[in-house]
Amino acid sequence: MTQPAPRPGARRSEKAKPSAMQIDELIVPRWIIPIEPEGVVLENHALAIQGHRIEAILPLAEAHARFAPRRVTELPTHVVTPGLVNLHTHAAMTLLRGIGDDLPLKTWLTTRIWPIEAAFLAYDFVLDGTRLACQEMLLGGITCFNDMYFFPDAAAQAALEFGMRACLGMTVIDFPTAWASDAEDYLARGLAARDALRDEPLLSFCLAPHAPYTVADTTLQRIATLSEQLEVPIHIHLHETAGEISEERGRTGQRPIDRLERLGLIGPGLIAVHCVHLEPTEIELFARRGVSIAHCPSSNLKLGSRHCAIGAMPRCRCARGSGYRWCSLEQPARSALRDAACCSARQGIEPARRHVCSA
Ligand SMILES: [Zn+2]
Repeated sequence: MTQPAPRPGARRSEKAKPSAMQIDELIVPRWIIPIEPEGVVLENHALAIQGHRIEAILPLAEAHARFAPRRVTELPTHVVTPGLVNLHTHAAMTLLRGIGDDLPLKTWLTTRIWPIEAAFLAYDFVLDGTRLACQEMLLGGITCFNDMYFFPDAAAQAALEFGMRACLGMTVIDFPTAWASDAEDYLARGLAARDALRDEPLLSFCLAPHAPYTVADTTLQRIATLSEQLEVPIHIHLHETAGEISEERGRTGQRPIDRLERLGLIGPGLIAVHCVHLEPTEIELFARRGVSIAHCPSSNLKLGSRHCAIGAMPRCRCARGSGYRWCSLEQPARSALRDAACCSARQGIEPARRHVCSA
């Protein structure tokens, strides 16, 4: 029987050792950068692959002695790292990329994005847009994304087609769309999607109220309760622009973070997206409660907003990750990471602590 030809960069193992363990593949890259131990770059090491699992990462000589791989893949100019996590996406909005990119946030939402979504939003729109986003993310080394959009069942289908991990938002916003009619309907549909997909090991869900300025107090309180009962995170835009903060102060007399604190959302399950214009007391509050922050430097640059004060956060032990809006200027993953690294450098964070690409 004819054996299939090895893929580029791969060759069949030359000699099987009787005492060696049979494995599917030995990958021999130029460098391996593991998560643990932290800050280490391995050379002359190999990854032993058996089935869908990494059996071992070990020195090359030891790998040859211990394993009899069916295939050896040599990557003499490559680095192998764990997959990146995009902590904030509206993946399907790849289809709207470039529309109104020169507009301020509120004008962009109200005169471009929301009217277009009112006309075109549908299951197939989200499926196609998320498929495109998945391909772009995989090309950028992203294997997991935290999404906030409508029709999470469609986004789930796309993620599964590409074998990606995804945390899908049970999105809530205070106006009707093709996905749901009101806050209760958004929650009911999101929870139904979560129930239907609960056996998919690559998928998880979070509650995703769009922002303090688009979701009412009663709904935010219900979301805080559901988050606690179901043990699912809350994913929300927070302090994206200075205008959002001044409007909230005019409307309620409070800053948005004060309002979320009053409503019970500031806790370890909160993933707060953007977080520009934070006061030192707010950073301390986030650190005390274990809030995670999605740092979106490319989006902030586009809007002319200030940067998230990630320079102050290592001292406060805030968890940080990066996201980028698929709907704005074309922003491949590496470009977004470069922006994040530049923001870190600008705030005096030493390179080893620029944890801008992990979640
Ligand atoms: Zn966003």
